[in-house]
Amino acid sequence: MPTSFDYDIAIIGAGPAGTACALALRHSGLRVALLDKARFPRDKVCGDAIPGHALKALRQLDPAFAEGLWQLQPLDAVRQSRLVAPNGGSLWMRWKLPSFNSPRETFDAALLNLVRQHSATEILENTALKNLQIEAGQVRLTTTAGTEIACQLVIGCDGANSVVRRQLLPAPLDRAHHCAGVRAYFENIKGAEDGLTEYFFTKDYLQGYLWIFPVGQGRYNVGLGMLSETVAKHKVDLKQVMPKLLARHPALAGRFDNARQLGTIQGFGLPLGGGRTVPMSGARFLLCGDAASLIDPIQGHGIDTAMQSGILAAAQALAAFEKQDFSAGFMLQYDAQVAHKISRKLAKSYRLMRFLSNKPWLVNAGVRLARVPGLKPWVQKAIG
Ligand SMILES: Cc1cc2nc3c(=O)[nH]c(=O)nc-3n(C[C@H](O)[C@H](O)[C@H](O)COP(=O)(O)OP(=O)(O)OC[C@H]3O[C@@H](n4cnc5c(N)ncnc54)[C@H](O)[C@@H]3O)c2cc1C
Repeated sequence: MPTSFDYDIAIIGAGPAGTACALALRHSGLRVALLDKARFPRDKVCGDAIPGHALKALRQLDPAFAEGLWQLQPLDAVRQSRLVAPNGGSLWMRWKLPSFNSPRETFDAALLNLVRQHSATEILENTALKNLQIEAGQVRLTTTAGTEIACQLVIGCDGANSVVRRQLLPAPLDRAHHCAGVRAYFENIKGAEDGLTEYFFTKDYLQGYLWIFPVGQGRYNVGLGMLSETVAKHKVDLKQVMPKLLARHPALAGRFDNARQLGTIQGFGLPLGGGRTVPMSGARFLLCGDAASLIDPIQGHGIDTAMQSGILAAAQALAAFEKQDFSAGFMLQYDAQVAHKISRKLAKSYRLMRFLSNKPWLVNAGVRLARVPGLKPWVQKAIG
């Protein structure tokens, strides 16, 4: 049995899940390492909409953390959203919690800076995990550069293609619970406004939507997400479909005529939560965020659930060190917490997404219904 470890905890991945976890462990007194294969600031394909619940989670750790992020540049404070039904009808909504959009390159670097400023976490950038082995009494990690790291507990926050998940809980891709998404940045979109996020549904691709999100300094994140089941079944090439929709969608007619695309269209996967039980722990390991498939199936946001699960994983880690119990049985408390605090809501969203997926008339009717005085909060609650 080894008597010394390089670290007590190794967190793999310094996105929203990993940084929230490291911040939640800042007073633990444990030796924590935070590894990321990238050097920050780094890009991450995303819609760049930072959900109000992500900021709330951060505020609960320390109100000053969330306050400081509102000063980021570029940033666009979201005032309202417009949801456009397949028949062109619009629903205008205001969300309860304040939120903003900011490119992930900026936002994630700021989260990592908070870890740097407020914790003793050892941050190892440019350090990609290649292999890991759970042994009696420790976890042994090997990086792509061949470095070996030993720790007592590993927390996999390494995103949609998580090495930790693939090695410790391998499972085939479940396309009914996975989305494909693409996005590009644009300038000069006719009718686009600061403070307004726009969502467009089309009758052909109801298991997904097109978005235009302002991200500050006159730039817009424009993207398209779709259930991977639909993508595979109809052999949809999202990178080709997106420009066609931007040119032909009836509610977007002419808006991109003089728009300037900045850079290429880039894609990435979205592992959806809800609708099935996904194991997210085992002896000496926990999974958070996209590695644990926690993206909201209706809206496609996962920054909030990544941060919430990172904070729950930190609490579980503290309990494990206190009891000196790293068994799979003890770690199941974490799965139960995530199920209670996050997955129950995602299951509702998943059922709604599947129910609406072949009923464009129902989406049209929902948008019409929301115009009836008194019914709007009900419709908004169902989708938000
Ligand atoms: C097209 C698209 C649009 C989206 N739009 C939104 C949106 O507008 N709002 C929203 O809330 N969510 C959105 N999401 C979802 C959101 O991006 C994720 O849910 C969120 O990033 C999850 O955070 P995470 O920390 O779990 O993973 P990530 O943010 O993916 O972070 C994982 C980190 O792990 C690192 N890593 C990966 N592999 C290794 C390795 N082997 N070794 C070391 N480090 C590693 C990566 O470099 C990365 O920094 C979108 C996703 C997509 C694909």
